[in-house]
Amino acid sequence: MDIPFLNLQAINARHADELKAAAARVIDSGWYILGQELATFEQDFAGYCGVRHAIGVGNGLDALSLILRAYKELGALHDGDEVIVPGNTFIASFLAITENRLVPVPVEPDPASFNIDSACVAAAIGPRTRAIMAVHLYGQLADMRSLAELAERHHLLLIEDAAQAHGASSDGRRAGAFGHAAGFSFFPAKNLGALGDGGAVVTNDTVLADRVAALRNYGSDVKYRHLYQGINSRLDELQAALLRVKLKYLDDDSAHRRHIARRYREGIHHPDIQLPIVQSEEQHVWHLFVVRCAQRDALQRHLQAHGVHSQVHYPIPPHRQVAYPGLHGLQLPCTEQLHREVLSLPIGPTLRDEDADRVIAACQSFECPA
Ligand SMILES: *Cc1c(COP(=O)(O)O)cnc(C)c1O
Repeated sequence: MDIPFLNLQAINARHADELKAAAARVIDSGWYILGQELATFEQDFAGYCGVRHAIGVGNGLDALSLILRAYKELGALHDGDEVIVPGNTFIASFLAITENRLVPVPVEPDPASFNIDSACVAAAIGPRTRAIMAVHLYGQLADMRSLAELAERHHLLLIEDAAQAHGASSDGRRAGAFGHAAGFSFFPAKNLGALGDGGAVVTNDTVLADRVAALRNYGSDVKYRHLYQGINSRLDELQAALLRVKLKYLDDDSAHRRHIARRYREGIHHPDIQLPIVQSEEQHVWHLFVVRCAQRDALQRHLQAHGVHSQVHYPIPPHRQVAYPGLHGLQLPCTEQLHREVLSLPIGPTLRDEDADRVIAACQSFECPA
């Protein structure tokens, strides 16, 4: 039997009884939007992240976008302001910026960690720079200490795209607690996944939290009173109830992901396959286990022939996407090389040791074409 990249059915089947009970509770309540399930989940998730506020929204893109939108409403950002962002990220990091008529300034990653390189960030700061969007790519914390230093020195907002890094921590602080605000996604395949779309903004800033809470709900603070031209992007009661169940198991799931990652890192020794480099165990929650190979497509075909499904995160960098013709002129050689070489191996909370060993064996038997 093939080893799937990620088995969502198996992941949720572990908690089927609890999930069904939570769903039944919502169905029977007759209250489906902005109710007690959401309020409780927001409290739980803020507590988990170690911040004062969490605001449930419709998805991760909206979480990031609403942070920037709220800062614009509060006068901290203006049309045309520049936001520094890693060149190698999922498109949503860019879309949140451009959706708000802000200008993404993509910078190169540190090829060892895949995360944004602080020296490149420092070099990219100019007179119109107002914010840094850090992305904890693949589940590993970006270098938040040096990014926070830069942000402070240059009076910049520091925003975390934490969509892949629920629970990643450093010195007892978790993803979402390092910047001025952070956006999370609860897309089903994320480390904390709903059974549909979902997201959250987390922050210690009460003014920002209130503004995001109003903006996600038609710009309204009290029903039918509209202070801002908001949007409709709410985490519904059903997803909030399901996420309350899944949050309880997040740390166990992260521990299992770390176990699989350790197994891969101990088992895969191949001259043509470069393993991911980790700063420390706690800083990585292994949303993805990403290797590099100069002959990436050949490796993917080889794994497929051995029944191992893999994926590429991501095949085309944002600045090369058709959607962003204005960015096509940028030269980001490190970013572009990574997009040619990265391959994500199966990893997840239900992947068994024997599956991991088959993945390892398939990697070990790869004969790299010259
Ligand atoms: C998934 C993801 C998002 C967007 O989240 P959605 O819930 O899919 O909108 C944003 N940034 C990164 C890095 C992601 O992986």
